[in-house]
Amino acid sequence: MKKLVPVPQEEEHDGRPGVRGRPGLVALPPLSIYIHVPWCVHKCPYCDFNSHERKGGEIPEREYLQALQADLEQALPDVWGRQVSTVFFGGGTPSLLSADAIDQIIGLLRATLSLPPDTEITLEANPGTAEAARFQGYAQAGVNRISLGIQSFNDDKLRRLGRIHDAAQARAAIEMAQRAVNRVNLDLMFALPQQTLAECERDIQEALSYDTGHLSLYHLTLEPNTVFAKYPPPVPGDELSATMQDRVAELAQAAGFNRYEVSAYARPGEICQHNLNYWQFGDYLGIGPGAHSKISFQNRIIRQARARMPDAWMRLAEARTGKHIVEERTLKHEDLGFEFMLNALRLREGVEGGLFIERTGLSLMSLLPDMRRAAERGLLEPGLNRIQATPQGWRFLNDLQMEFLH
Ligand code: SF4
Repeated sequence: MKKLVPVPQEEEHDGRPGVRGRPGLVALPPLSIYIHVPWCVHKCPYCDFNSHERKGGEIPEREYLQALQADLEQALPDVWGRQVSTVFFGGGTPSLLSADAIDQIIGLLRATLSLPPDTEITLEANPGTAEAARFQGYAQAGVNRISLGIQSFNDDKLRRLGRIHDAAQARAAIEMAQRAVNRVNLDLMFALPQQTLAECERDIQEALSYDTGHLSLYHLTLEPNTVFAKYPPPVPGDELSATMQDRVAELAQAAGFNRYEVSAYARPGEICQHNLNYWQFGDYLGIGPGAHSKISFQNRIIRQARARMPDAWMRLAEARTGKHIVEERTLKHEDLGFEFMLNALRLREGVEGGLFIERTGLSLMSLLPDMRRAAERGLLEPGLNRIQATPQGWRFLNDLQMEFLH
């Protein structure tokens, strides 16, 4: 078991920073808000998110809004007085919500939390639910970034992925999003069932042709407890998948995108601040069914999870007994190094060494043996000023992260 420089045990916490012998966080990290919208028109066979099929897309919007308000109000004491740096509507399919509902939620956030006018507010949208008027309404409500789940521009691949949209709808949704907001992200996947390298290249080239500021390019993975895990489709083998990954990165980088995280590519000034906050081990309050939170106090860091099933979460949140939070735990000191590295090492440029101290309250010396070992294996850049994977470490990120697991 590794010896870490201690922060106080939970019973020692008195909320005061800098008490002698009781090191803590000098400053609290930036705080993001995540809002989970749990419904989809159809459950995609590869999806392991907390998403629940509502045929026809009819969702209980009024009940959801009431429960969301109850959830947020009960969470306020944990984040009281803190400024919000980003807001993210994720799902599920947030674009099933009306513009009026999004307006009410952002209004609620503005009424209860400190939300500067230029706060990044992202909404995930499914091209199959896109409507120009709705996107304009989201923008008027304060959404300034739309993330579109395109996945592919190939109709055959979209069908195999069980998507509700086709390529024409994907193209129309991009144009609608670009008319509504200045910042648009496109999510695409590669290594799709029976995909050839040429098909993969065509998808990426088309995505690049829209001149959006951000791309998220994911390798399709067959996650446990999905239809694809039970009935695996004929996906490309390891060698072809690796070639696709390299080609995807080459094409995006040649078009002026910086691959700043394993799957995230941005033009200058277009990095997703919400996701960056996760990777820099910032705080986030997640509200809605199944949402997770990480919240720092001066002398402890907690993680929470909300009830996963939408009906149960709505009933429990509305009861205002706190039972909609089904899990809450204080992070143990010995886990902080691994948790921090799990996130920070995903960033191509890593993070400054000092960020570890700032976010965890631990000395970086506590990670020294692990860092040395990883550097000797050629996976981590040597030195303490920056925590950064080498190109080799980035390629075999799992191996590198495991160096910090105890
Ligand atoms: S639309 Fe997205 S969240 Fe919904 S089932 Fe498909 S992949 Fe999952």
